[in-house]
Amino acid sequence: MIDYELSPDIVATREQLHMLAEHAMRPIARDYDEREHEKPWDFINMTWQLSKNSGIGPGRENRDKTEPRPDAERNLRTCVAVEELSWGDAGLYLAMPGPGLGGAAVMAAGTPEQKERFLSRFKGEKAVWSAMAITEPGAGSDSAAIQTTAVRDGDHWVLNGTKIFCTSGLMAGDPSKSNGFIVVWATVDRSAGRAGIKSFIVNAGTPGMTIAKCEDKMGIRVSDTATLIFEDCRIPLDQILGSPEVPKTSEGFKGVMATFDATRPIVAASAIGVGRAALDFVREELKRQNIPIRYGTAVHKLTAIERDFMDMEANLQAARLLTWRAAWMMDRGQRNNLEASMAKAKAGLVVTQVTQKAVEILGPLGYSRELLLEKWMRDAKINDIFEGTQQINMMIIARRILGYSSKELS
Ligand SMILES: Cc1cc2nc3c(=O)[nH]c(=O)nc-3n(C[C@H](O)[C@H](O)[C@H](O)COP(=O)(O)OP(=O)(O)OC[C@H]3O[C@@H](n4cnc5c(N)ncnc54)[C@H](O)[C@@H]3O)c2cc1C
Repeated sequence: MIDYELSPDIVATREQLHMLAEHAMRPIARDYDEREHEKPWDFINMTWQLSKNSGIGPGRENRDKTEPRPDAERNLRTCVAVEELSWGDAGLYLAMPGPGLGGAAVMAAGTPEQKERFLSRFKGEKAVWSAMAITEPGAGSDSAAIQTTAVRDGDHWVLNGTKIFCTSGLMAGDPSKSNGFIVVWATVDRSAGRAGIKSFIVNAGTPGMTIAKCEDKMGIRVSDTATLIFEDCRIPLDQILGSPEVPKTSEGFKGVMATFDATRPIVAASAIGVGRAALDFVREELKRQNIPIRYGTAVHKLTAIERDFMDMEANLQAARLLTWRAAWMMDRGQRNNLEASMAKAKAGLVVTQVTQKAVEILGPLGYSRELLLEKWMRDAKINDIFEGTQQINMMIIARRILGYSSKELS
């Protein structure tokens, strides 16, 4: 039987985080948007104490029978939490410490010992970040084309290459900021194509890793986006996630890509949070101006604004249902590759349309920097870009529905 009720536990989490979003995020959102490269340390330290044992974070468990059973609602709970935090401010949510993308990769591909070793630091007193570095100057959507190499030299892997647009790369990679780590994708054998791509843990401050710059961005400006250069960066052999063997097929690469099945619903949830912020704002403003939204009225009798508003609301709700389904499937250990891409493609598009329409409906109020609506419109677009662009997710959906391989449809 399908049950659309959230558990009392998740509802309580949502209520708590809504308070945090309203009272701790909204009031500082504009300020940190204006001062792009400054860090909201008070907010970071406060949320670290609240969140470090919350069990919130994406993850497909690569679990053996000796490990304890994970929280059965972890992914759904995380989606609900992230929507709430992003309703507060998507940039601040992304800037929050925690296992994030790098942690999701460790959960998906790490051994029990690696999970203990790399994830235990997220329970300490000081805030810690992790990040995931895949994108390169010549490889983004086509992640199989990455050029960064990992060459075995005695007891070490030696990494060389450049990674760009790495979210939280500064906070995870600079030891003066945190005792974090970066999961770096590199090839151990270029001639093997996708099968040769592996992921490696590079701890903050490892010699040979340089944080070259942080981007100036259109939206989510409080979240850092770093360029990382690896020059003969040596890491111990046991910091490769999963097996170092290069298989004959690209199955191993599929395993690495499975991290996205956990993280795409989270990006979708963040998009929905931003879209809901804009929708709530429009609703309040229409109410203030005594403009009604007449639910239940025949469609031919609705005003243009009523139709627009209902359309925005329906699309956000559709995106949310897709997102919850993808997370729910992952919580049950079901394959959700198709559903994760559906959620991400729908939510990424909807949030750009909803925020743009909100600015259009409210005119100067929407455009002014005095309010947050113009910021939400800028913050929205990233959801259509990272973790697979709109076009790439649509292609994955087509592949899975039509039964094509990535070679046949790319
Ligand atoms: C703020 C920000 C944060 C980011 N954070 C991270 C991070 O933490 N880690 C990380 O590794 N990366 C990160 N990225 C990078 C992001 O994932 C890539 O930008 C994205 O995957 C697109 O890759 P690309 O930039 O190389 O664009 P390209 O792949 O060059 O794509 C350019 C355009 O072409 C389209 N396109 C490409 N191939 C096809 C195709 N086969 N069919 C149809 N259309 C196609 C794309 O959809 C896009 O519209 C971040 C990016 C930004 C902007």
